[in-house]
Amino acid sequence: MANRKVCIVGVGKIAVDQHVPAIDASPDWELAATVSRKGSVEGIPTFRDFDVLLSERPDIEVISLCLPPQPRFQYARKALKAGRHVMLEKPPGQTLSEVHDLQRLAEEAGVTLFATWHSRMGKGVAGAKAFLAGKEVTGGKITWKEDVRHWHPGQEWVFEPGGLGVFDPGINALSILTEILPKPVHVTRAELDFPDGRQTPIAARVEFSRGVTMELDWLQTGPQTWDMEIHTTEGSAVLKFGGNELWIDGQQQPAAEIEEYPALYARMADLVENGRSDVDLSPLTHVADAMTLGRRNVVAPFAF
Ligand code: NAP
Repeated sequence: MANRKVCIVGVGKIAVDQHVPAIDASPDWELAATVSRKGSVEGIPTFRDFDVLLSERPDIEVISLCLPPQPRFQYARKALKAGRHVMLEKPPGQTLSEVHDLQRLAEEAGVTLFATWHSRMGKGVAGAKAFLAGKEVTGGKITWKEDVRHWHPGQEWVFEPGGLGVFDPGINALSILTEILPKPVHVTRAELDFPDGRQTPIAARVEFSRGVTMELDWLQTGPQTWDMEIHTTEGSAVLKFGGNELWIDGQQQPAAEIEEYPALYARMADLVENGRSDVDLSPLTHVADAMTLGRRNVVAPFAF
């Protein structure tokens, strides 16, 4: 297959940390342009205006949106209407109905829409899913504790409406949970801690059916924790390091070799090649439910 030309929109933390290196290392992809309000990637043409990119570069068939969720819908809509295939960073939108609209637009345009969940590509996730298949889940525990100042330095959008707060990392755990469980669960109870004066939570405790619990904390300094354990009547699976290490009944299991973002671009190449889309909104549905059902506590103000 010839290289597919991709344009990255939004040259920020995740574009620089993950997307650019993944595209550079892939035999399937060529970074043909970026759209950025003030940044650039060395040696790659930069457009300041997305409309100009769409009109001047019909050769670029894929748009990879690396923006925060709040502005993403308008870019995705334009790209799909211009007949381009689209990759969405997680979470795929600010709301579920935004993404339903994008699905409809992609179908009308006959192009691929890929709502990526990078944590689903964690090296232990497929193994956990295979182990849990057909088993009866008796309980589970998700512990996702990280330092927002380290991972989102100065990113005020995470505390603005639509930014999800601590569910921005928490949705990664939910993308794994919804991938590996043999039967779905639903939110039964949630408690959300909002820093005084902020619009999104900085910590949360969520309970799901089948005895699954989730604890999210965005103020953890020192060692960071992205762990998940799922218990069944026939043994337990433990995922560590955000899905990248799998232990079954105390034994570490062999891991997949490919890293998360190269795996996402390989999947996108396959989807485009086969004329398919991949949009699973179940992780965002759980977040919406936790926000709908959650009891709200006001906690100490937060500043970066
Ligand atoms: P970021 O660095 O704050 O923003 C990404 C870029 O989006 C910015 O540099 C800017 O690019 C553009 N942008 C920001 N606000 C905009 C606006 N209002 N209108 C138009 N463009 C805007 O965010 P990030 O950490 O890369 O996160 C982006 C997405 O990736 C989020 O959905 C996040 O959940 C996901 N993600 C982040 C991480 C992480 O470790 N940070 C990990 C995995 C996934 P220009 O200046 O080039 O225009």
